Amino acid sequence: MYLVDTHSHIYSEEFDADIQEVMQRASEAGVQKICLPNIDVASIERLHRLCDRFPSICFPMMGLHPTEVDADYPRHLALLRAQFAQRKYIAVGEIGIDLYWDTTYQQQQIEAFETQLQWCIDLNLPVSIHARNAFPQVFESLRKVGANKLRGIFHSFGGTREELEETLSFPHFLLGINGVITYKKANFKDYLALAPINRIVLETDAPYLTPVPFRGKRNESAYLKYVVQHLAEVYGVSEETIAEETAKNACQMFEI
Ligand SMILES: [Zn+2]
Repeated sequence: MYLVDTHSHIYSEEFDADIQEVMQRASEAGVQKICLPNIDVASIERLHRLCDRFPSICFPMMGLHPTEVDADYPRHLALLRAQFAQRKYIAVGEIGIDLYWDTTYQQQQIEAFETQLQWCIDLNLPVSIHARNAFPQVFESLRKVGANKLRGIFHSFGGTREELEETLSFPHFLLGINGVITYKKANFKDYLALAPINRIVLETDAPYLTPVPFRGKRNESAYLKYVVQHLAEVYGVSEETIAEETAKNACQMFEI
């Protein structure tokens, strides 16, 4: 099986003790490529270190995560923007709007998101979008900056039927599906198949959102197989078909 994990934070310290084993298990599970979104200025060095260690498997993105946006965000964005001159990144990410935990910096989150969306256009790169309790705001920013000039992934999709339909109305965007699909309360399984398979990619969001039967433990790329099992059920196709199609979608989007 050929799997691509389009969203994973396995460069974080949760993996310091056993990253070699984590990569080995991923390889044994068929995971051949892992896309790594950045979080903030502090995470850059770890991100680069892992990509340098596994250059044919790990591919970095660069961006400022919405929960890390505060009043000082312009200074941080300048530091991140300078990174693009230093090495190759497959996307701008992880960026977006998160109004679930805290709305203090809502306006700054929107500004930072739109600035980084403009980077995508300037650098001709896709985007990895984090939208939590914020689909209307995210859609508005995409349209404002230029939906037809942007391409990318709505990472960790688990929205309503209406949100699904609206995400699909952005023609160059895919949906990232992770371990949440294995949870009992994942109602989006009922209508996910409205999205054609060519709009779906796999992701873990490791170390978070661990699929059943490992829910509550640390997530890792090898667990993608549980997401594949559920997607095969939803679409009524084989696990091989899900793996092959989603890997193709991911490689086209990120040019990896
Ligand atoms: Zn993430």
